[in-house]
Amino acid sequence: MNMQKVIRVSSRRQEKGKLIVPLLKGLVYTLKNLFSKKVTILYPEHRRAVSKRWRGLHRLKTDENGELKCVACGLCAVICPPEAIRMTPYEEDGGTRYPLEFFIDEIRCIYCGFCQEACPKDAIELTGVYDYVDYTRADLQFDIEKLKRPEDFIFKGK
Ligand code: SF4
Ligand code: SF4
Repeated sequence: MNMQKVIRVSSRRQEKGKLIVPLLKGLVYTLKNLFSKKVTILYPEHRRAVSKRWRGLHRLKTDENGELKCVACGLCAVICPPEAIRMTPYEEDGGTRYPLEFFIDEIRCIYCGFCQEACPKDAIELTGVYDYVDYTRADLQFDIEKLKRPEDFIFKGK
């Protein structure tokens, strides 16, 4: 009798058993979870609410007349750790101050929120907008117009 052949057949059976048991376990697991509540969402059509403390894109706030509340004092720019804020202040004859230019480099920003904390006029805030993308660094230099409407830059899937 060729002993080698007998041994080879029995070892193949063992190998098949080793494959089938995990396969069945996997199928049982899949069936168990097939009808359970989904934990994923269809992004970006659906999105989860973020915490009120979330620090996303900045907003330069405006008053009831649509004018910037910012008085271009420069405190936010001074306190900003990565120096992501730059502005050109302007003062009218009557003493009214406002920024001629105001830029935030949203790539340099580390979203610490210091600018919001430091502002004496409650003129800047960090919003819940977290998923904004663009193609160039220049596009992520937000000027006054972009900073007034951060919600326009929420990712919409295209
Ligand atoms: S959140 Fe922090 S890093 Fe970003 S602009 Fe404000 S102060 Fe600078
Ligand atoms: S701290 Fe406030 S008021 Fe002063 S420049 Fe910054 S946003 Fe404007």
